[in-house]
Amino acid sequence: MVLFASDLDNTILFSHRYRQETDQCVEHLEGREQGFCTQRSLRLLETIGERGLLFVPVTTRSIQQYRRIRWPQPPRYAVTTNGGTLLVDGIPDPVWQAETAALTAPWQPALLELERRLPEVPVPKRGRIVDGTYLFAACDTPEDAAAVGAFFVGSTGLETAVSGRKVYFFPPGIHKGAALERLRARFAPTRTICAGDSVIDIPMLLAADVAILPGEELLGTGPGRRTCPAGRRFPDFVLETVLEEAGNS
Ligand SMILES: [Mg+2]
Repeated sequence: MVLFASDLDNTILFSHRYRQETDQCVEHLEGREQGFCTQRSLRLLETIGERGLLFVPVTTRSIQQYRRIRWPQPPRYAVTTNGGTLLVDGIPDPVWQAETAALTAPWQPALLELERRLPEVPVPKRGRIVDGTYLFAACDTPEDAAAVGAFFVGSTGLETAVSGRKVYFFPPGIHKGAALERLRARFAPTRTICAGDSVIDIPMLLAADVAILPGEELLGTGPGRRTCPAGRRFPDFVLETVLEEAGNS
């Protein structure tokens, strides 16, 4: 069985800023249309299911944020909270939860301490601990996010990741590469294909047999790397490449 583990935001779905006319809304936020998929992507996801590939979203979204997505055909499994939670038919899997609780328990004081110290950085930000698993701060600009990340370097054992206007502090072991290993242990796939667009996806992309990326900036080129040609829409490229790769295996 081929496992297709994929980031969601800016990989499979995207916000209204990138919306084109024929795209389909799959997420509402406070009554407004928020998240979109291309119609082609929705058809390709259907084909991926019909071909017997196991599609598992692997997202940094909280459980609640993930649940906002209205899939035409919901995937049976989804990993949220950057690997912290496995949803099975929308319900957190207790075995996975217990593993995560054991991983994150030693880091709870560090998370609380860093949350308390966030105001020390003099830039506007909104921070919170997500599902008891990691600390997140949303800033107004990428520069502010970089400043928040840099401020705490060396003063926390948590792993810092800056992606656009967001900065994350993850306990070691809470990353998408570890999530992929946990999925491998559970499903024993013969092959894993992964897609992602940001630094947070790198551990998963590096652990995949095939990694699908929007360009060469993130990881360069190399065996097993597939990068989206200029002018193509990345979500469609991702899903077409998955079907191609699965056909070759
Ligand atoms: Mg993304």
